[in-house]
Amino acid sequence: MLIVMNANATEGEIAGVVRMIESLGFRPHVMPGATRTAIGVTGNQGAVDLSHFENLPGVAEAIRVTKPYKLITLDLRPERTIVDVGGAKIGDGSLAIIAGPCAVENRKQAFAVADVVQRSGAKFFRGGAFKPRTSPYAFAGLGEEALKMLAEIRNELGLKIVSEALDEANVDLVEKYADMVQIGARNMQNFTLLRRVGRSRLPVLLKRGMAATLEEWLLAAEYVMAEGNYQVVLCERGVRTFAQHTRNTLDLAAVPAVRRISHLPVIVDAAHGTGRSYMVTPLARAGVAVGADGIMVEVHARPDEALSDGAQSLTLDEYEQMVREVRAIHKVIA
Ligand code: PEP
Ligand code: MN
Repeated sequence: MLIVMNANATEGEIAGVVRMIESLGFRPHVMPGATRTAIGVTGNQGAVDLSHFENLPGVAEAIRVTKPYKLITLDLRPERTIVDVGGAKIGDGSLAIIAGPCAVENRKQAFAVADVVQRSGAKFFRGGAFKPRTSPYAFAGLGEEALKMLAEIRNELGLKIVSEALDEANVDLVEKYADMVQIGARNMQNFTLLRRVGRSRLPVLLKRGMAATLEEWLLAAEYVMAEGNYQVVLCERGVRTFAQHTRNTLDLAAVPAVRRISHLPVIVDAAHGTGRSYMVTPLARAGVAVGADGIMVEVHARPDEALSDGAQSLTLDEYEQMVREVRAIHKVIA
């Protein structure tokens, strides 16, 4: 259920609705908007009697939600959500650029990329400390040591840090050192992990699962929001298809598809979405052209020596050129 308050509803009237929701044993989600406040209700298994709310002061409308999602939708919040990552914004109309190596390998490697990312004017630095690898023998990241290096990068260069958590214990560590927690494609339906980041103070970057439908992806975001964390950014990173010329098929139609349903920002990961470095810049340009709020790419000073995802990593020069190109496109469509 969704309760829409009158445009001039007072704080006291909103609090009265919140109390009523809680007294019924449900959870209220207050979403203030530009013109009115809406309150989402979760925790009810069946239909709620709308008459509990219709006559409360300040209530414009109580609406039964028939769609599977309640909190990610434009019905609840018609304005776009702006996600605040340690003071830097995603979804405010600017183009967010999230760049960095797939994995932090050592201090020198990470700083070499971070310097270039910072000079490019990008605000966000990505780097894996915990890596989900297909083979148990592959480099799985430096763990907390990597997170400490990332925190140094934030302190020295002012970049906001995005890093993946593979499990709940990782979330504790990522919270200690980073500005945004990434949930990877392989974990998009790890529901206990989604619930854990739903209780985090950090914003969440939620990758699309490699075989996830739009609805499954949005419901994963719903899990996070249902726990009270409304700061979620969706990331399209390609899905599995029969195509063999790419690692994944970047589903750019997901961007307008998300926009039609949800107020959450959506970005495009052109690195995992292609798997081939020569395709990354063209697909990053395309991601901006279809209206993504940001672009994620992987960057390495020596991609052929990278311990993970070198084949899809841009060199430092390629990265700088990519930034110029996506900014030029963003300027035209903004
Ligand atoms: C990554 O960002 O390095 C990563 C592992 O991404 P994904 O979960 O999209 O495969
Ligand atoms: Mn990677």
